[in-house]
Amino acid sequence: MITSQTVAGALATGTHAQGLSGGTFSDCVAAIDLMDGTGAFHRLTSADADFDAAVLNLGCLGVVVGLELRGRPANELHCARFTVAEDSLPERYAAWNRESVAAKSWWFTEHQVVHTWVTHDDSWTPTASEARGPADLDRIVTRTRRQLMADIGDGQGRTPAAQTLEKFLGARDSKGTLHELFKNGIPAPQLNMEIAVPLDAVPEAYAGLKELLHASPYKLHCPVILRTTGPAHGHLSPAQAVPAAYLGFVSYMTAEGLITAARPLFDDTQCLLYGLGGRPHWGKYFTPELLPVSNTNGFPEFCRAVSRFDPHRRFENDTFYRVLGLAPTRPGTDGPAPFSRPRLPGQRTEPCPTARTRHQG
Ligand SMILES: Cc1cc2nc3c(=O)[nH]c(=O)nc-3n(C[C@H](O)[C@H](O)[C@H](O)COP(=O)(O)OP(=O)(O)OC[C@H]3O[C@@H](n4cnc5c(N)ncnc54)[C@H](O)[C@@H]3O)c2cc1C
Repeated sequence: MITSQTVAGALATGTHAQGLSGGTFSDCVAAIDLMDGTGAFHRLTSADADFDAAVLNLGCLGVVVGLELRGRPANELHCARFTVAEDSLPERYAAWNRESVAAKSWWFTEHQVVHTWVTHDDSWTPTASEARGPADLDRIVTRTRRQLMADIGDGQGRTPAAQTLEKFLGARDSKGTLHELFKNGIPAPQLNMEIAVPLDAVPEAYAGLKELLHASPYKLHCPVILRTTGPAHGHLSPAQAVPAAYLGFVSYMTAEGLITAARPLFDDTQCLLYGLGGRPHWGKYFTPELLPVSNTNGFPEFCRAVSRFDPHRRFENDTFYRVLGLAPTRPGTDGPAPFSRPRLPGQRTEPCPTARTRHQG
């Protein structure tokens, strides 16, 4: 759950934009002021060999004490909202994004429909089925919400989790800036995971997820969320050199504050999407041990920057060091090697097998 957010934290974790014209927050950065692990100060620009490490730094290089950011004016956009059969997703998701400023979809897997918001500058034309409007969405949202309330033990629908789906009720076309249209999160304790796959892998991701979610005894509490960005700077960027679709998964904590039982489903989902060349959003839930070696391009360059800026490992971070394959140095953290750690319920102990990798660069 996020109740407050810092610019440096959003930068460090690769917080992303929406729409093919943006990547991650790293793309807005003109200069970074970094106090490194030795106490030395650096003003880093794209001329520095390690700029691509600093723009998505996982907090492992030192303290970011200043940022020079590039902005652009926020224009008013039109937002078309429609609900169509789920098989439109593999066929149309990339096109919705290519034809607009940004398109965000919510895939209600239990109801076989996808609800989409296409933001555009009044130049986007829906197909006939898209133009027919949000058929039955209110009924689907009401049923999804009822299921969520039952799952988390919130009989009255009073938890923030139960309120998160209300934004879909009475969905209508609207206008606003990207920020105004998409700022809709309600802080609720949850397991929140987002995996970026290459945009052209969406049809395979859709087919694999459909099978996985149907077969799993665990259920997600929210529709699968799809957002797209263009390629992004940063050695560790989930989007890398090609446009990416971020697929988001949510399972809420129970009304009593217990962690979700659905973690095995999150692990299986990671295996599936990492096998399509996916990489996790570093600011959300992920299982370091599941990321296959084939999806680690850029990691050696990042580790070299860690050696340059933090040779004494003052900014060591257990989770990210496990991701990067860096040996822990702090007393108490030099326990068993990552792959022999005790298993969490449903957690695999080996990286997922990969079908192939699509990352470049
Ligand atoms: C429920 C939920 C919803 C989310 N939704 C989205 C979303 O819609 N889109 C999206 O892109 N992301 C999303 N995220 C991820 C989120 O954007 C980032 O994790 C968050 O912005 C990190 O910012 P923070 O201030 O909370 O950082 P923290 O969690 O405090 O820190 C994150 C990392 O940044 C490092 N850090 C913080 N400050 C500095 C500094 N000054 N110098 C160097 N390193 C620093 C920390 O060491 C740490 O490693 C979501 C996360 C959650 C949990």
